[in-house]
Amino acid sequence: MTLVKDLFSENKEWNQRLVSEVFPTEVAQQILTISPGEGPDKVQWLFNNSKCYDVASGYRISYLFFHEPIDLCPAYMQQRGIWAQLWNLLTPQKITIFLWKYLHGRIPIMQLIHQRFPNTPATCPLCQEESETITHCLFLCQNAKLTWRKIEMEACVPFSNSTTFFDWWSSTTSLLDKQPNGSSKVLLVAILLWHIWKDRNRRVFEQGAGATPPEEIATSVIRAHQEILVRPLRPSRID
Ligand SMILES: [Zn+2]
Repeated sequence: MTLVKDLFSENKEWNQRLVSEVFPTEVAQQILTISPGEGPDKVQWLFNNSKCYDVASGYRISYLFFHEPIDLCPAYMQQRGIWAQLWNLLTPQKITIFLWKYLHGRIPIMQLIHQRFPNTPATCPLCQEESETITHCLFLCQNAKLTWRKIEMEACVPFSNSTTFFDWWSSTTSLLDKQPNGSSKVLLVAILLWHIWKDRNRRVFEQGAGATPPEEIATSVIRAHQEILVRPLRPSRID
């Protein structure tokens, strides 16, 4: 059955039995109140008054489809300030996107893979000591821990195992924002997290690659930070 007329009987009246079988009761009742018209079937677009497709109404529908009303999103996603600040960071876009993925927990680390495929190990492939969680990668694995020490960002909220990365990022950025040069410090933290992640990946995926000494990572982070401060980038935000 593909056309409305397929629901008609031979005398061009509704086939009541078929309508009741195909639709829920209340919908069937509404259909049966309509007098079948004479003309041929035609396709109509329901989202504007002209009943013909136009780009404006198509855009509106696709926008609504991809942007859930904010109050239906999980609580952490409703914190607009965090996301606005993230997309306004003057970091290269790859760093902003990396942070966005981390804040949403959408990074293919061993612990997440293990949750979906229990026969894969959850252990950190570098230290083999703990589960490779988001926070283990960025704070607790040996080289990450030493790199944080080298950068001396005491101004950040100390990381504890009981916090999620989202909570840590949200507390740290709001704390740093209240300090002199707060946005520059947030920028430094973002670059630091990216370099720790990049170094991990290199060691995981390049066979035989050794750890970059923490002081070397710290130097690269400070250099990248200085470069951005000297030549500010445009924020990634697209309205
Ligand atoms: Zn580790």
